[in-house]
Amino acid sequence: MSLSLAETVAAIAADMAGRTERGKVATYIPELAGVDPGQFGIAVVDAEGTLTAAGDSETPFSIQSVSKVFTLTLALGKVGDTLWNRVGREPSGNAFNSITQLEYEKGIPRNPFINAGAIVVADAILAGHTPKVALGEILRFLRFIADDEDIHIDQKVARSEQDTGFRNAALANYLRAFGNLRAPVEQVLGVYFHHCAIAVTCRQLALAGRYLAFGGRHPTAGGRVVSAGRAKRINALMLTCGHYDGSGDFAFKVGIPAKSGVGGGILAVVPGKAAIAVWSPGLDAQGNSVLGSAALEILSQRMQWSVFGA
Ligand code: GLN
Repeated sequence: MSLSLAETVAAIAADMAGRTERGKVATYIPELAGVDPGQFGIAVVDAEGTLTAAGDSETPFSIQSVSKVFTLTLALGKVGDTLWNRVGREPSGNAFNSITQLEYEKGIPRNPFINAGAIVVADAILAGHTPKVALGEILRFLRFIADDEDIHIDQKVARSEQDTGFRNAALANYLRAFGNLRAPVEQVLGVYFHHCAIAVTCRQLALAGRYLAFGGRHPTAGGRVVSAGRAKRINALMLTCGHYDGSGDFAFKVGIPAKSGVGGGILAVVPGKAAIAVWSPGLDAQGNSVLGSAALEILSQRMQWSVFGA
């Protein structure tokens, strides 16, 4: 007999609670280094709008690179497909913070989800505004799609990102040298560091992901966040580039468009069926959540949610 979604989610949380191979938490800033690796949360929103959650689904964590999905959505809304003149759509096969391809690809980052690409996306959102206004726009968007006014930026995380972000500063300066940043480097970095420092729970993140799962629509407000075609394309980028140099392996094992962050969160999108958020702070060598990926692999298999078939 097959289990219901609620039973499956509960069983996965119980399974994850017993696992000992949890990966290593990110250590580049104290706020992430100090997070208890023993945590795991999961939240799933289905087509009826029902939320199913288990584990530490109400504990806030640092969104980090999962925010790049939302900044990409905003930037496309602002500048449309002209964004693709400045950012590519190919998996990089390199680490998320790599600089090497930028040299021979003349300052055009491989995709919007590696740091270099997300920094260009932040610049596109910033265009003509102050960093405060740009960040206000990002936060308002996230609060709207998640139906939750409590979502905020963790200022301590933002400060630490700024204090230690030498590679990101190098990427931004290099992009600027190629003419692929328009606003001052410090301002673009300020926006980037702060959107990475937003705190969310699994529940908030799953709710925020609904527009990608349901053809661009916002189910509760009844409105449209993006066109169906745009949602489809953002999902395609999540599938091909959402886990950096682990994207191929994630597609092989899980088969669902998803975006990870070094806070240990993953947003996964099952078109027409569900938006899922998982969180567990221990990471693998590519900076992707070990238990988050394991949980999604089981969920995808049990629910037959892989986009490649059962
Ligand atoms: N703030 C992190 C960085 O810029 C985000 C990286 C990530 O989540 N993969 O390095």
